[in-house]
Amino acid sequence: DEMDVDTIWMNGEFLDWDDANIHVLSHGLHYGTGIFEGVRCYDTENGPAIFRWDEHLQRFYDSTKPYDMEIPYEPSELTEATLELLRRQNLESCYIRPIAYYGYDSLGVSPGDCPTDVAIAAWPWGAYLGEDALENGIEVMVSSWRKHASSQIPTNAKTTGLYVNSLLAGEEARRNGYAEAIVLNKEGNVAEGPGENIFLVRDETIYTPGLSQSILDGITRDTVIKLARERGYEVDDSAVISRGELHTADELFFTGSAAEVTPIRQVDNVQIGDGSRGPVTEELQSAFFDLVERRTDDHEEWFDYI
Ligand code: PMP
Repeated sequence: DEMDVDTIWMNGEFLDWDDANIHVLSHGLHYGTGIFEGVRCYDTENGPAIFRWDEHLQRFYDSTKPYDMEIPYEPSELTEATLELLRRQNLESCYIRPIAYYGYDSLGVSPGDCPTDVAIAAWPWGAYLGEDALENGIEVMVSSWRKHASSQIPTNAKTTGLYVNSLLAGEEARRNGYAEAIVLNKEGNVAEGPGENIFLVRDETIYTPGLSQSILDGITRDTVIKLARERGYEVDDSAVISRGELHTADELFFTGSAAEVTPIRQVDNVQIGDGSRGPVTEELQSAFFDLVERRTDDHEEWFDYI
């Protein structure tokens, strides 16, 4: 394999993969006090490029705010570390995972003098829900687990501890034979997937739950909203979507850095539209892949070539 992934950047140094370890009494392990990102680098027509790095980095720093966590590196240092990490490993198309967490010092819930450790890893990662999912769509269930309300834990910060809820919802779905879950918020309206935002198409109009619905402010969500509006679609990006509206949708799809644009063909055994990738989903999915693989030259500002 040409891709020899063997290096992780950790606290300012490039370490061998096997040496990038943490102490078992790290605060973040016990209390879920980490924040992270998931970013993709695409092997574009113009060479490998990280997609919307600046927005991911901004969200990375923003995620620290509720926790008063201080990242001891400048954004430019993390950018340089990431570019160097990809270059050193000849990574072309890959997934990038920056993380910052309270490390080892003391184990009170108050982080006290725990250091903020920072690491960045990258590895090749294909379609999150599978190639078949991108083309034919997936079957999902509405989870019996609700999303935490943003009054309980800030859902707009990408915090490691939040993903316990994602695991519960996703694994419940998979145990029941579904590829993924849809998670309702505390009010019972549609929030998002365990690691994806959700879109609904009805009568040529596109809807996605608003930021007040306990969702992560997804960067793919933002990309798809812009691509749709540029193509003349009306997009309601502060929608309140009830569970029943899922079943009567013409089309549904998930978005995410990992999931990209994944059609949903069935919810709780109810077929959505004609049960395959719908025409609006297909148009936006093609627009998305044409964009990120640079078969178009729009939004060049969203790309950092390595
Ligand atoms: N919601 C949740 C809970 C997520 O984990 C993700 C993945 N980061 C998303 C939505 C999609 O966000 P993005 O498009 O920025 O990856």
